[in-house]
Amino acid sequence: MHHPSAVPLVTRVDASTGALVGRTGRYEKRLRDLGGVYADQDAFSARLAVDPDELIYVVEEHRPSEQPGDLIHGTSTLYPGTIGDEYHMTRGHLHAIADRAETYHCLSGHGLLLCEELDGTTSIAELHPGEIAYVGPHRIHRSVNVGDEPFTTLFTYAADAGQDYEIIATAGGMAKLIARADDAASRWVSVDNEAYRGR
Ligand code: MN
Repeated sequence: MHHPSAVPLVTRVDASTGALVGRTGRYEKRLRDLGGVYADQDAFSARLAVDPDELIYVVEEHRPSEQPGDLIHGTSTLYPGTIGDEYHMTRGHLHAIADRAETYHCLSGHGLLLCEELDGTTSIAELHPGEIAYVGPHRIHRSVNVGDEPFTTLFTYAADAGQDYEIIATAGGMAKLIARADDAASRWVSVDNEAYRGR
């Protein structure tokens, strides 16, 4: 039995930066880490040529263990921008134990949780500060920043869930892309991903 005696019982989050005091881990994703994730390969290559080290998102987490019944919480901070017409987003995943659910509490910024069932059925939770997205079992999910500021969420999920990233890559992406809207009335629009092959 694992006893997480060294793990802090209290963490503290800075809502504007996502910094999590008391974290047990942190990782960053830079442009060069995200090849194949965005639909517009030419736009991606052009951006990569300018600054491959551009920071796209940061995750800070409190992971007491990976045991069934335990919980991981942490922050995801996704910086604003577009690649081609597509808004900055996280790589996305299905939990390796696929029936594990998750919540995302928006602390700052304006973004989406793009969720997809295995048959390609899409649902989108739009988040502003104070709003919480529920990502149910068996949902592929990714965050998308559709605002002009960093989009920071506080997530909580089952510690044994794990992440399967390949389920998105092998299908040619997710069924829908989140792109800049043409009209001034809305920030974003979801459009069919022409590269999507289903699964
Ligand atoms: Mn997840």
